Amino acid sequence: MRKTLLRRVGRAGWPRLKQAATVLWPDASFEAIMEAQQGFGPYCTLSFDCDFPRDVEALPQVAELLDHYACPASFACIGQWVKRFPDEHRCLVEGGFELLNHTQTHPNLYHPDYAYARGGELSRKRFDLLVPREKGQEIEQAHATFVEVLGYAPVGFRTPHFGTLHTAEVYPILRDLNYRFSTSAMAGSSPHGGTPYQTDAGIWEFPLSPCPAHPFGVFDSWHSLGKRDGAHARPGEMTALFVRLCEQVQGRGGYVNIYLDPRDALDSGELRRILDYLRGSSLVVLNYGPLLERLLADPTRGLFTGP
Ligand SMILES: [Zn+2]
Repeated sequence: MRKTLLRRVGRAGWPRLKQAATVLWPDASFEAIMEAQQGFGPYCTLSFDCDFPRDVEALPQVAELLDHYACPASFACIGQWVKRFPDEHRCLVEGGFELLNHTQTHPNLYHPDYAYARGGELSRKRFDLLVPREKGQEIEQAHATFVEVLGYAPVGFRTPHFGTLHTAEVYPILRDLNYRFSTSAMAGSSPHGGTPYQTDAGIWEFPLSPCPAHPFGVFDSWHSLGKRDGAHARPGEMTALFVRLCEQVQGRGGYVNIYLDPRDALDSGELRRILDYLRGSSLVVLNYGPLLERLLADPTRGLFTGP
């Protein structure tokens, strides 16, 4: 009964109630979300958002580490950085990694509280407040840049800062560009607790996993390591939560979909710890495109449709 209620709190989008549930019943809220994923997969996708130049500079090292562990991964890249740092992005394409369109300028990149986020060239607009035509231009320009600079035509997208800045307005834009998927929604606010689903526009959405300790928020390195010195920044703490998420999914089925900032994940050592754990786990790790193919080929593995 309480779990049904908690699931409803997540999907209804009431921020105050979500905060209250996170403080009062973090374990029950996490269980409520993950229980809804039972029977799916288990699958895991790893992605990196290459938001700042310091992240882009870390890409060759991140790619090398992933290659060492033979771990597939996806990179959400920004058109203006692809243009400015073509070699760092080419190394991803040459490494066989999947690239996602993360818009041309990544609106809302500027942040006065962080030295690396104060650059004059960083956008101060908010993606969710752009009119649909401007959203379309951001996505189309990035697509053209990927093709021109890298010879790579993405079919997947991530909304800048995703989560609460994500809006369903992107799906018809992506459909018109012949995209196939997005990974921009949060599991706790999604149908079925966060397993992939098809939107009305036909685009598939791969929601991001919840933090086991803050289940209505996203489990990522920005939350764990970056934002206000990180909610889980002690060495190994983020990986311990990742293990908890993975164990839940390996036990009953489900989907692990986490996002990392290349620079923080690398410098903190958490990326290496996460890859060490994954190497010994039974989780199937793959990129979004191949996962979608697999799900479509075998819908009995718990593929849901509808918004
Ligand atoms: Zn947390």
